[in-house]
Formats: sequence, structure tokens, C-alpha cells
Amino acid sequence: MYPKSFKKLIDHFSSLPSVGPKMAERLVLYLFKQDKEKLMDFSESLANLKTNLRYCKKCFNISEGDLCEICRSGGRDQKTILVVEEPLDIIAIERVKKYDGLYHVLGGVISPNPKSKNDLKISELEKRVKEGQIEEVILATDPTTEGDATALYAARALKDSGVKITRLARGLSTGGDIEYADEITLGSAILNRK
Ligand SMILES: [Zn+2]
Repeated sequence: MYPKSFKKLIDHFSSLPSVGPKMAERLVLYLFKQDKEKLMDFSESLANLKTNLRYCKKCFNISEGDLCEICRSGGRDQKTILVVEEPLDIIAIERVKKYDGLYHVLGGVISPNPKSKNDLKISELEKRVKEGQIEEVILATDPTTEGDATALYAARALKDSGVKITRLARGLSTGGDIEYADEITLGSAILNRK
């Protein structure tokens, strides 16, 4: 069948989310057809992924330094935190340009496994709200059962802090994913939060 190193690369690609074996074959063949320089650049980026990038110490976004670009920027509203499940949600919301406050990445949602709560950055969020001059926390977890449960859990954790807690407006399709929401829907969900 395939030469050994070709097969090994196919296995790597097939282990990625949403990539099936057929797609993996096509990708590896595509890469094989590229010139060596381009492949070196690609492999270097891959090799340095964990060296150059880390989680922001404050909001857990993906960052090149201890603090991400958003936390470092002085031009943003420091009184509002928008809470999301994953760093990709930040990219989706930034694209819409309807929000200029801070973020907090939970790193997932509550699943039926009760231990999943412990992996979320909820206590870190509580700490930020307590220590900062935060006036509003917008819960922007996905409109799924798990996302709603997570928003409820976070809201309970913040209840005693006295901060205003809002949730993105409906209109985002239930069961949908913020990351894939279209820009107009996402923009109005941010503006019409309650
Ligand atoms: Zn940050």
C-alpha cells in the first residue's frame, strides 16, 4: 500500500477532528506536491506551536505572551467581561466588531460528567470579577443544553458579587455554535443581550 512515511502522515491527519481517512489521503498528497520550502515553513510552525503560544494568564485566550493582545490593549472597556467556551468564539465575536470589552475563556462546558466543572475556569472568573472594576458579565456560551447549564452555573457562582449578569439574546439558533453563527445574527445577539 502506501510507503511507510506517507501512511504515518495520513494517520496524523486522520486523528484530527473532522478529517476522515479519505480527506487525510488527499491532504497528504497535496502537501507532497508542494515545494520543500513551503513544507519546511509549515512544519516549523507546527513544531513551535507549543513554544510560541500559550494561554493568556488573565482570560485564557490563546496568546503569544503571558497576556493576550486583548488583555494588553488599553483601548478596551475594562468593565465588561464576555464569557465564552473556547478561544475560537473570541475570534468569531471580534470579527463582528460589536463588542469592545474583555473576555474570559472557560475552556469548555459542563458535561454529564460531574468532574467537568472542575476543569472550567470559573473560580478564575470569580476572582477577576471580585478584584477588577467589573460592572457586567455577559454569558456567551453556546445555546445548547450544556452551554445553558454552564451559563447557569457561572451565573450562580457570580451571584454574590453584585455584578450585572446578562446572556446573549436568542436568535442564535438553539443547539447552534457561536463559532459558526453568521455575523449579523451574532452582532444582534450581542447588542440585544438581557
Ligand atoms: Zn487575555
